[in-house]
Amino acid sequence: MDSVGVAAAAPDAGPGPAWQSKCPWGAPSTSISCSLADVMSEQLAKELQLEEENAAFPEVVAAAEGPFITGENIDTSSDLMLAQMLQMEFDREYDAQLRREEKKINGDSKVSISFENYRKVHPYDSDSSEDEVDWQDTRHDPYRADKPTTTPKRGFIGKGKDITTKHDEVVCGRKNTARMENFAPEFQVGDGIGMDLKLSNQVFNALKQHAYSEERRSARLHEKKEHSTAEKAVDPKTRLLLYKMVNSGMLETITGCISTGKESVVFHAYGGKSATEDKVIPPECAIKVFKTTLNEFKNRDKYIKDDYRFKDRFSKLNPRKIIRMWAEKEMHNLTRMQNAGIPCPQVVILKKHVLVMSFIGQDQVPAPKLKDVTLSNEDMKKAYYQILNMMQQLYRECNLVHADLSEYNMLWHDGKVWLIDVSQSVEPTHPHGLEFLFRDCRNVSQFFQKGGVAEALNERELFNAVSGLNITADNEVDFQAEIEALEKMNEDHVQNHGKKMSTFSSDGDPPIYDE
Ligand code: ADP
Ligand code: MN
Repeated sequence: MDSVGVAAAAPDAGPGPAWQSKCPWGAPSTSISCSLADVMSEQLAKELQLEEENAAFPEVVAAAEGPFITGENIDTSSDLMLAQMLQMEFDREYDAQLRREEKKINGDSKVSISFENYRKVHPYDSDSSEDEVDWQDTRHDPYRADKPTTTPKRGFIGKGKDITTKHDEVVCGRKNTARMENFAPEFQVGDGIGMDLKLSNQVFNALKQHAYSEERRSARLHEKKEHSTAEKAVDPKTRLLLYKMVNSGMLETITGCISTGKESVVFHAYGGKSATEDKVIPPECAIKVFKTTLNEFKNRDKYIKDDYRFKDRFSKLNPRKIIRMWAEKEMHNLTRMQNAGIPCPQVVILKKHVLVMSFIGQDQVPAPKLKDVTLSNEDMKKAYYQILNMMQQLYRECNLVHADLSEYNMLWHDGKVWLIDVSQSVEPTHPHGLEFLFRDCRNVSQFFQKGGVAEALNERELFNAVSGLNITADNEVDFQAEIEALEKMNEDHVQNHGKKMSTFSSDGDPPIYDE
């Protein structure tokens, strides 16, 4: 807080009701009076005022912590609110001045000094109130710090009729004012000492409490800025990650956003130079930023939770780390595919929840999804066989099931199909792996059958062709039942033998993750 806050919450330091009608800035100057009569009348006025105030502002402090300006609650009839608005305005001007000074000091210099942490205007932190209660955890206890005005141990000073005790109103008031100096250093308390402001204990305590809450709010906002799991993917932390990539020269420029999905945002960037000689950064890159909001990922838990490569880690992780695991999973899966020679983006680098890969497309224009291109019959047929082949490779060589394979996640580029979006891909021995494969087969089959490829196998034939299994059921329901029975068998096997072992996959590729 601040000088207005002082004035607003300090009515009982002044001569009472006057503060309500007059500008609060003027209050302190009227409060200096020391004769007995004055003190008496002041006390009376104070009592009256207190009553009045308790009725009008039952919780001055609580109100001071409430939302300042949220739109719905601008109530200019309250002096407190007016004072707070004034304070906000004051703070804003202060910040503007700070910015001007910052600019003046920094000029064109490459090294700059930031005054960021001296700013005063904090956007209202909407969910801050819940942990507001523990303001007592005193990191700065004003009572422990130096006391500029002291009353000796014996509890009084002076002699005879001039004796004053520590309970003396004026001494106590001055002392309280002086103690304000001990509020957090960044907390502006104004020149109370200079103008011989005397704060009653009640006001002082209210101010102290407010100082704590303000300080805590500041800290919390800072914290929030640092650890934001904001709705948007590009929170300050992500921005910093991207900035570092450009700053290091790894990326030349980030040009813009290609896609905003529920779980990720994809950017296009021009590649730069790698720090290490052995690595070549592709001329164009796609940056997939996994959204740091968990809402959407909740639905996908089943993909990762049961994936034994990640199972042990999953339960121990916090949400942010789980998001990173999606990015990590996509990286590992892409690498496997790359090694098998499947056309897919090449991994450039993974930093937390940001995955940089080669860009499929040219001159900032991403390759179209299969659903968006019109292919000739010949290309359509070619694409179909290519996909059949890729699905087999994926299953047999990469030990993976795409699990979200459809015309949405296949790009047409350079006369062939490229597979993307493999963060959710699982190994076939995943408890639902075969179901996912069957779903993939259905999507592919339907797309090409509708697309006029007469040779396209139906979903059951495709499933058998990819997996090498020989499920004979001739209708979907039975087929699916058999798939689930196989999955169950595998799970039982896992239960009994304590480790994953495929009863239907051809190879037991060791989990890549442990490397
Ligand atoms: P989501 O989980 O949001 O579907 P995707 O990996 O499918 O994430 O990416 C979303 C979109 O971004 C894709 O449909 C594609 O258009 C584009 N995209 C993603 N990766 C690349 C890439 N490497 N090259 C070109 N475009 C890409
Ligand atoms: Mn996708």
